[in-house]
Amino acid sequence: MAGIPVHVSPTWFIVAAVITYWGEPLVTDYLPDLGNGAYVVAFGFAVLLYLSVLVHEFGHALTARAFGLPVRGITLHFLGGYTEIERESPTPGRDLVVSAAGPILSLALGGLGLLATEAVDGDVLRFLVWELAVANVVVGVFNLLPALPLDGGHMLRAAVWRFGGDENRGTVVAARAGQVLAGLVLVMPFVLSGGRPTLFGVIWAGLVAALMWSGATQALAVGRMRARLPRLDTRRLARRAAPVAPDLPVSEALKQANQAGVTSLVVVDSAGRPTGLVMEAAVAAIPEQRRPWVSVAQAARSLETGMVLSLDVSGDSLLRAMRETPASEYLVVDEHGRVYGVLATTDVDAALAAR
Ligand SMILES: [Zn+2]
Repeated sequence: MAGIPVHVSPTWFIVAAVITYWGEPLVTDYLPDLGNGAYVVAFGFAVLLYLSVLVHEFGHALTARAFGLPVRGITLHFLGGYTEIERESPTPGRDLVVSAAGPILSLALGGLGLLATEAVDGDVLRFLVWELAVANVVVGVFNLLPALPLDGGHMLRAAVWRFGGDENRGTVVAARAGQVLAGLVLVMPFVLSGGRPTLFGVIWAGLVAALMWSGATQALAVGRMRARLPRLDTRRLARRAAPVAPDLPVSEALKQANQAGVTSLVVVDSAGRPTGLVMEAAVAAIPEQRRPWVSVAQAARSLETGMVLSLDVSGDSLLRAMRETPASEYLVVDEHGRVYGVLATTDVDAALAAR
């Protein structure tokens, strides 16, 4: 729709069935003459509810696109929907507007519905419009709660980022709020019913709380990871390496490395161009007494294009480069293309994992 892929998860059909089944008695309460037609009205409500969730998601998608942020698609699932936006380097202001657009549309739909309730004719239509208006107000208000992964959480994050100057602190504050809200949602059916909740209420609250908790916890992990990205300084993390000829015995190469005070070996051709990396694990697997008879080329991995990193690739771009060409070791070259050292994936992992 409007150039944006819209996916409907199969879980939606489960929820449509649940709303139809549990909604029928409610409909019958208001419209006792309908008989089995109450199921049709309840199902109609489920469809209209999802159409208004779609409007909400389009609020996010279209504002994101207006700001030039690529929108990957909209997915409708069992508890609502989400819009996938690539927010590589947004500003807090843009993030705030994109996040607010969804709930504002929901509240607008709700307001319009409440006004229209008086104007429409027919009991069934009036009932549907009123229920839908209330549902949209609830969706709008709930999503404005300042807790990740809700829209209000994104808005809180953007506000802390804008006024505190720190994007990661914004993420941590909003994600913690999300974890607290998940706990509150879980006890809500007990509070609202005076300690005697319905099974339906408990299951529903449990699902919402689980989704909130996992979203908030995931946001927290991503925030922590991003805060550690400056540690990924290739110049600092790379182990200095000694160049060795391919036919050099492993024992001799290790002796040279030891004398040069380096821990890594790079195989170079007769012109001094790097052709391979001596793998630490491969060397360790060769018994001590065999090392004088094994050449370094036999313990080396030949260089592929993605395995050569330049010194200035750091942080986020380093992670991306490593993801594109997974390897245990990478050759690091300086600005002149000369061997600088070897970057071990274990060192990068350790830098990210350290407290
Ligand atoms: Zn939203």
